[in-house]
Amino acid sequence: MPPQVLDLLKSRFGYDSFLPLQEEIVRHVLGREHSLVLMPTGGGKSLCYQLPALCLEGLTLVVSPLIALMKDQVDALRANGIPAAFVNSSLTASEVGRIHTAALTGRIKILYIAPERLTVPGFVSFLDSASVSLIAIDEAHCISEWGHDFRPDYRSLKTLRARFPDVPCIALTATATERVREDIVAQLDMQDGTTFTSSFNRKNLTYSVLSVLPKSEHFGELLRLLKKHRGESTIIYCFSRKGTEELVADLKEEGLSALPYHAGLDASIRRLNQERFIRDEVPIIVATIAFGMGIDKPDVRLIVHYDMPKSVEGYYQETGRAGRDGLPSDCVLFYSPGDRSRQEYWIGQMEDAEEKRRARRKLDGMVEYSELTGCRRSYLLGYFGEELDERNCGGCDFCMADVEQFDATVIAQKILSAVIRTEERYGVAHVADVLRGSRSKKVIDAGHDKLSVYGIARDFLRDEIKTISRQLMEVGLLCKGDGEYPTLSVPQAGREFLRNRATLQLTRKKERPSGRRAFDTSRLDYDQGLFDLLRDVRRVLAEERGIPPYVVFGDVSLVQMAYFLPQSKESFSRITGVGATKLEEYGQIFVKHIREYAEENGLEEREKPLERRRSRSVRRPGSTYAKTLELFRQGLPIDEIATRRERSPGTIIGHLERLAAHGEEIDVRNLLEPERFDLIRKELERSETPWLSAVRDALGDGYSFDEIRLARLALQRSPNSPRESL
Ligand code: ADP
Ligand code: ZN
Repeated sequence: MPPQVLDLLKSRFGYDSFLPLQEEIVRHVLGREHSLVLMPTGGGKSLCYQLPALCLEGLTLVVSPLIALMKDQVDALRANGIPAAFVNSSLTASEVGRIHTAALTGRIKILYIAPERLTVPGFVSFLDSASVSLIAIDEAHCISEWGHDFRPDYRSLKTLRARFPDVPCIALTATATERVREDIVAQLDMQDGTTFTSSFNRKNLTYSVLSVLPKSEHFGELLRLLKKHRGESTIIYCFSRKGTEELVADLKEEGLSALPYHAGLDASIRRLNQERFIRDEVPIIVATIAFGMGIDKPDVRLIVHYDMPKSVEGYYQETGRAGRDGLPSDCVLFYSPGDRSRQEYWIGQMEDAEEKRRARRKLDGMVEYSELTGCRRSYLLGYFGEELDERNCGGCDFCMADVEQFDATVIAQKILSAVIRTEERYGVAHVADVLRGSRSKKVIDAGHDKLSVYGIARDFLRDEIKTISRQLMEVGLLCKGDGEYPTLSVPQAGREFLRNRATLQLTRKKERPSGRRAFDTSRLDYDQGLFDLLRDVRRVLAEERGIPPYVVFGDVSLVQMAYFLPQSKESFSRITGVGATKLEEYGQIFVKHIREYAEENGLEEREKPLERRRSRSVRRPGSTYAKTLELFRQGLPIDEIATRRERSPGTIIGHLERLAAHGEEIDVRNLLEPERFDLIRKELERSETPWLSAVRDALGDGYSFDEIRLARLALQRSPNSPRESL
C-alpha cells in the first residue's frame, strides 16, 4: 500500500489501521479493477471508496438510494475536511449548477447522487464533461428484483456503466443472497471484477430472546432493559402501527422519552422524529419495519423486537443497525408462541401459493431461532451459510449463561457503603453512578460528588455494579423497596457484614472473547463521568453546527478520550477518529474539558500505544508530496495547486507542512497579504496554546484555518531570521 494512502487514512479519517478486508479492497480499487463488496453493517464499507476517491485524480460518483443519508454522509466527510457534495431533488437549480461547476474544476472529490439523477438531462451533460475516476454503488442489492429493497431507478445504473465502461466500479451491500449477488454482477456488467466477502459475524452485538415470560410481563421486562440502557439510543420494533403508538404512550407514562415511526404518520412527522433521534434529542424510537433504511446512526446500543419478525433475514438486518461503531450493543427479541399465529394469519391472507409457501418457510426459521436452546449467533450465521469458529460465542443468552465465581468482598463493601452514604434514598442506577464517578446532573445536584464513596468503583462497569447489587439482594445483604422507583437500603445483615469484615464470593459471567479490532476500544474501562461530560460537549458543538453529534466524534473516539485522557495536541491527535481537520476544529475544546476533569479528579493521562508505524516517504519522487512540491516550486498559488492536483487547499497546505517538517525549504511568505499576516502573527505569538482555533477565534470570521496555517508555516520556516523580513 502506498504510504500516502496510509497517511490519508490517519490525516483525513483519523484511523491508524484498516478493518478486515478494507486494505485489500482499497488496493484493488486503486488498481482500477471492479469489485463487489459484501460486508455487514458496521463493517466499514464507506472507507472502501472514500479513501481511493482521495487518491485518484478526478471525481468519484457515489450512487445512494436515500436522500436523507446523503446529507449525513456528506456532513461527515466535510467534517474531516474532504470536499464532498450531493445533488438531489431537494436542491435548487442554481445550487445544483454551483456544485457541477465545483466538481468540474476539481473542488469536489466525492459527489453523491440518487439513481434518478441519471435520467435528468442537465446531469447527463454534466457527466459528459466530468472526469469520473470511480463509481461507487451503495446498497447495491437495490438493483435486484430478488432482493427485498428493489428500486426500479437502480436499473438506470446500467446506462451509467455503459457510458463509463473503463471506470472502475465498486458495488457495496450488507445483504445479498447468492442470487442477488449474481444479479448485481450481471446488471452492472462487472463479470471481470472480484467479490470480497467479509464475515457477517457482528462480534460486538449480543443476541438474546425472552421467551418464557407471559405476554403480560413483557412491558416490565422492557422497562428493565431500557433502564439498563438509559439515555442510550434504542430502537424498538413492533409489528403494527397501532402497537407502535400504544407502546409509545405506555413508555411516556413511565416518564421515558420515546417517539413513534411508521408508514401511517405524516411524512414530515416521520422525518422530524427520525431527526430528533439522530441528533440525540430523544433516545428511544418505537417503529414498524418502515424505520431503518435511512438510519446510519452508529451508536444505537439496543435493538428490541417487541414482536417476533417474520423472517430471519429481516431480523438480522434490523438488529444489524445496532453498534455500527463496533462498541458493545444488545439485541433482544421478545417471543411468545402467540406471535406465530398472528404471523400465520397474515400469511393465510396471501393469494399466491408459492409466496405463501415461502413466507411459511421463513416464519419457521424465525420460530426455530426464537425457541432455540443453543448458540443464537451460530444459528444466525449458519442461516446465511457461515460457520462460527468458536464453540462459545460469548455473546448470546445461551453462551453468556456461563458463570464463574469471584471474590466480591471489596466491591460489596463499596456498594453497601455507597447506599448508606446516600442515606438509602436512591435506586441502584444512581448508586452505580456515584460509585463510577458520574457527573450526571442528578449526582451533582445531590452533592454526591463530595462523598467519600464518589468514584471509588471506577474500575467496574455500570452493569456489573447493577448485577452485583442484585446478587447482594438475593443473599440478603441489600434490600430494595417497592414502587416504581425502588430505593436501596442496607438491612441488619448488611451492616453486620460491613462491621465484621466478612468475605463474600459471588458468581459472574465469564469474560467475553475479544472483539474484532486489534486494539479493542470496547474493552477499555473508561471513565464514565468524563464520557458523560464529553457527550454533552459533543452535543453542544453539533447543535451549533447543525450536524448530528456523531459527525463531531463517534462514541469510539469519546471512549478513548475518557480512557487515555489526552491533554496535549499530540496525544489528542492519536485518538481514533481524530484527523487533521477535526484536530484543529475540536481539539482544543475537548482537551480543555479533559484537562479540567483530570485535574479535579486527580487522574493521569495514559499513553496511547501507536498502532502502526507508517513509513514517511515525503521526499520519495513521484509521491503525492513530491508532486505538490514540484508545483509549489513553479510558484503557483495554493488554490491553483489544489485545482490541478484535485485536492482541497487544506490538503495542499498539509503537504507543505509535512515537507517543511522534513527539512524542505518552503517559503510561503509571498502568498500572504502583509497586513493580514501581521495580525495573524501577533495572535499566534500571543496565543499560549498550540491550538489554531484559539487564534482563529481571536481573529474573527474573516480568517480561515488555511490562512492561519500558512502564516504559521511562514513563521516556522526561519525561527532565527527576524520575521520583519516580510
Ligand atoms: P458500513 O457502511 O459498512 O455499515 P461504515 O462505513 O459506516 O460501515 O463504518 C462503520 C463504522 O466503522 C463507522 O463508525 C466508522 O467510523 C468505523 N470505521 C470504518 N473504518 C474504520 C477503520 N479503518 N478504523 C476504525 N474505525 C473504522
Ligand atoms: Zn452464542
